Amino acid sequence: MQISPQQVLDALKNVEDPDLKKDLVTLNMIKDLSIADNQIKFTLELTTPACPMKDMLKNACTNAIKHFVSAEAEVSINVTSRVTVPVNTSSLDNIKNIILVSSGKGGVGKSTVSSNLAVTLAKDGAKVGLIDADIYGPSVPTMFDLVDAKPGAVETADGKTKIIPIEKYGIKLLSLGFFADPGQPVPWRGPMASNAVKQLFNDTNWGELDYLIVDLPPGTGDIHITITQSFPISGAVVVTTPQQVALADTHKGLAMFRMPGINIPILGVIENMSYFTPAELPENKYYIFGKGGGTELAKRFDVPFLGEIPIIQSIAEAGDAGKPVALDQHPLLDQIFGNIASKVAQQISINNAQLVNS
Ligand code: ADP
Repeated sequence: MQISPQQVLDALKNVEDPDLKKDLVTLNMIKDLSIADNQIKFTLELTTPACPMKDMLKNACTNAIKHFVSAEAEVSINVTSRVTVPVNTSSLDNIKNIILVSSGKGGVGKSTVSSNLAVTLAKDGAKVGLIDADIYGPSVPTMFDLVDAKPGAVETADGKTKIIPIEKYGIKLLSLGFFADPGQPVPWRGPMASNAVKQLFNDTNWGELDYLIVDLPPGTGDIHITITQSFPISGAVVVTTPQQVALADTHKGLAMFRMPGINIPILGVIENMSYFTPAELPENKYYIFGKGGGTELAKRFDVPFLGEIPIIQSIAEAGDAGKPVALDQHPLLDQIFGNIASKVAQQISINNAQLVNS
């Protein structure tokens, strides 16, 4: 007997997305279903690139069809992704999700995390932009080998001038550093800084983006208030190092996102420089700054702990050489940044789905 599309969809209603807690048919994730004899083909459209549960979901679909429809069915599933948008916020043009990367102190690796998160999400197939809003020491120009770069501008149909971000390694980039005099000793200040940052969002031709990552200045200041109150933010990632002094400041940073009037979802805590691993002894881990501080902080705020990043010489070297380390073939760091990026994307997808339901 010919298998009908309804039979297949009824079977797939038994497969639930563990993050979004609904079945794949209700979530509208089954696309382009075609059936020829016992050959069943469809596309499974997930909400994050490089979804960690991709293989598990594929297997569950195949098993459900074989169990509920026909044991002889030959199932072929093509997995794609379509990143979702937080629906009850008005999004900015074609930018689906804005992710803030913050830290309590400078020098903890906020820009390193921002750059490598951007590169990893782009490697997974997402359309990614990166704004370097660190008024005190914009480091994206160095980390992407763009120290002398100057973004261009275009005039739009309505006569406005729009900045064109610089594209490097598949990422669209803008940094306050592109607009400052390289020798300028004074950081951007007060309203001028806030206006400059707003322009990076509003007066730029970003095109379509799944994720726009924003490397914030360290601490909690005017720029944080400007950005969180002017733009729809999907969530914030907080970077810390394990030392007590860093953790105390990170605590303040996390509390800021929870303040009434700011109220930004915290996607999780990343602990950088967690331990030292010498290149010649990759199995050895030396927790020179103490252990478990980042996990403890995540627990205290009841937010996900997104991962530990070791101190590795090649991370610093890659940053200085203008090519984020996630672009290299480094098995340990591929795994570490891969996990962090998929957890961030996963958390956004969960939050966006909850917004749809609320
Ligand atoms: P922040 O943005 O918080 O000020 P950066 O990302 O600029 O910090 O990092 C400060 C310095 O530390 C940079 O030279 C960077 O390459 C280096 N660094 C950051 N994280 C690591 C790490 N895990 N291992 C080695 N060096 C690191």
